[in-house]
Amino acid sequence: MYQKILNEIFDEINGLDCQGKQADYIPELAKVSPGKFAVYLTELNGKGYGVGDIDDKFSLQSITKVFAFTLAYRLLDDNIFHHVGVEPSGDPFNSLIQLEQEHGMPRNPLINAGALAVCDVLIDELDNPEKDLFDFIRKIAQNDTVTYNQKVYQSEKTTGHRNRALIHLMKSFGRIKNDTEKVLDLYFKLSSVEMTVKELSRTFLLYANHGKLPGTGEQILSKSQTKRLNAIMQTCGFYDEAGEFTFRVGLPGKSGVGGGIAALHPGEYAVAVWSPLLNPKGNSVKGLKALELLTTKTGWSIF
Ligand code: GLU
Repeated sequence: MYQKILNEIFDEINGLDCQGKQADYIPELAKVSPGKFAVYLTELNGKGYGVGDIDDKFSLQSITKVFAFTLAYRLLDDNIFHHVGVEPSGDPFNSLIQLEQEHGMPRNPLINAGALAVCDVLIDELDNPEKDLFDFIRKIAQNDTVTYNQKVYQSEKTTGHRNRALIHLMKSFGRIKNDTEKVLDLYFKLSSVEMTVKELSRTFLLYANHGKLPGTGEQILSKSQTKRLNAIMQTCGFYDEAGEFTFRVGLPGKSGVGGGIAALHPGEYAVAVWSPLLNPKGNSVKGLKALELLTTKTGWSIF
């Protein structure tokens, strides 16, 4: 059934004249071919279905904020919420205004300020932060080859002025313990992780499987932590368009400015889509449409 639905989605979306623009504030991302489009859905039993450029790797960008938060939540449990909140920001992902008004406490772990605070926590908690974080991502992806793209990382490091502003503002409120460049370096590497839609949908299966890795059954997050993280994704995972995404799609997920979106249906499947053309809020135009069609055609969402 899923393959037939994905084929229909592919045909319908290819027939649409989608407006949108690649992210160009990270120069390396502006070089990605605008016509790329892929969807991959993996069921909990491991069966997968895909259409389009499913073997191309793309920059996950903010989607990896979910992985960093997963590790921090696993390490600190509820104490992580002394560092980040759980409210949607209703502001752009890199906004400084709210952070100033709220004394440097990031609204949630899925905006830039929140992920920077999470990276600061990981540097405190881990013996070898970069190695341990990447080992963790490879573990939940069940894929030893996952890594970051050097060119994207360099591009972000050179042009990440706003992220530097965010972390210095937080530091001025006493909210960042470690050296700011060290935290930024981990954050930029995290943002530059790349995967195919197939790999990404498999990595998101754990959130559809109540925190357990499918296959090995290892519990990465407790059932309750997974419910909470899925709730954070639902309310905070789409920049200041989480309401629109919930309204049109009805699944928890996370998007990134590389044009990817990962989403999940608890107990059923995880799905990843990729198309680099973004709407003004920073979400993939075709990705959003594809997921809207998926939940419309299957007739299932979490609502
Ligand atoms: N690396 C990007 C940044 O920090 C991530 C943004 C995103 O995907 O939302 O600006």
